[in-house]
Amino acid sequence: MEVWKKVSRMPAKAIRNMQDDLLQKMVKNEFAKRHPYYREIFKEKGIDPESFRSLDDLNKLPLTKKEDMLPREDDLRHPKKFVLEPPSEEEQKSKKKGFALFGKKEEGPDPKDYKFHTLYFSAGRTARPLPVEYTHYDLNNMKEAGFRAFDILGLTRDDTMVNAFTYAPNVYFWQMFYSTVGIGSTALQAGGGKVLGMEKILKAMDNMEAEVIAAAPGYAMFALQTLDFFGFSAENLQRLVIGIDYAPVSATEKMKKLMESVGAKDNKVQRIYFNSEAKCGWAECEPGYGYHLNPDHVLVEILDPDGETVLGEGEKGEVVLTHLDAKGTTVLRYRTGDIATGGLVTEPCPNCKRTVPRLMGDIERKSHYYKLSGNEGPVDFNANELRRRMMANADVLLWYVEINRQNGTDGLKIVFKGVSGRDEEALQKNLEQEISETFNLPVTVEKNTLDAIANKIGLEKYITEEVVFDTRQE
Ligand SMILES: [Zn+2]
Repeated sequence: MEVWKKVSRMPAKAIRNMQDDLLQKMVKNEFAKRHPYYREIFKEKGIDPESFRSLDDLNKLPLTKKEDMLPREDDLRHPKKFVLEPPSEEEQKSKKKGFALFGKKEEGPDPKDYKFHTLYFSAGRTARPLPVEYTHYDLNNMKEAGFRAFDILGLTRDDTMVNAFTYAPNVYFWQMFYSTVGIGSTALQAGGGKVLGMEKILKAMDNMEAEVIAAAPGYAMFALQTLDFFGFSAENLQRLVIGIDYAPVSATEKMKKLMESVGAKDNKVQRIYFNSEAKCGWAECEPGYGYHLNPDHVLVEILDPDGETVLGEGEKGEVVLTHLDAKGTTVLRYRTGDIATGGLVTEPCPNCKRTVPRLMGDIERKSHYYKLSGNEGPVDFNANELRRRMMANADVLLWYVEINRQNGTDGLKIVFKGVSGRDEEALQKNLEQEISETFNLPVTVEKNTLDAIANKIGLEKYITEEVVFDTRQE
């Protein structure tokens, strides 16, 4: 945490200088030397690792896509090519005094840092999961990232928590696990609906008088909306920490209201943006102030989602990652497929005054941008925007959308279950009108039972629910 105290107060210029140094070191000592995939690419493209001086040289480096990393039909071990090889014996013998950052003297690579610890996977249910290898070194960095996130969220050992992020080999559950254990708070590692189920989670929250619940946004909302049904109280609840899935700022507003309506003690909602390939999650001090990055661990660029142009301060674009301090699976200019609607800003946070770069707005999925053909020609359909609207609607309990094609025209079919006691007929009409006007596509809206929808979206089955189904690909 000593490092964090310094990093989170450093002026932007000093952060950039630090990243210049770290990048130079990472390219020269790791990517060019012991990264099987990039070493090859550098050779192929005649890239000289010695020529890297600063972030300005980044555009000389190739971009990486998820497809570049996935297992291949003829090579299932392909992802292993993104794992740093341990230093050779020869290298260890000639250890030299090297770069020193914050007094952390390095005396050449330590083989222990490169030793395999665990594999976590990216969540993608629609895309194939990508194995990400962690060494002990990475695990320590993830723990550090977890402490930093708690520092930003303002969580302490006095907070009793329920970790309802889905239990699975993923960074979401485990960063939260290590953070709660690390600070010594009373915490139930509930593992989400998949492990304990809603009723037991709510009961535990009630019994433990838990102040904090960490959960995927859809699951957190569902929990609050069904609390009454299960007969539990939320009188001790003060805070929701949401992450894993799409968590627009507008949904945090609905959650705050929901917390009030169930009699919670306070109604704080905070977000974490977890990224599997970054090997950590970044927290936000308050909704809308941006995800506070760890600039000494990972470098983040924002690129044009359809091209290779690096975008400026605050411009909406794709989140692109480069590891600056990692072992195991490491990436260089990796296109995450996540879109930060408010881009990246480097000015100090007006709320908490920390100076680290921040990812602003909502994190949308690029795979949820569709090019459809409506009645009057091509339509750009942003399913993230539909999700945002549905999540913010106080009358909708559960829902999903199907993108269907009929006679060459694409349309949306929305299936929903209203919150108990609401007029579902009226809601159905309103949704049909609002959505067809907004998206300029033919829309049908249907009601269904809670069980049918929960089952379809995998509410307690998957890491997070899936609500967009493109039937045209089936
Ligand atoms: Zn802040």
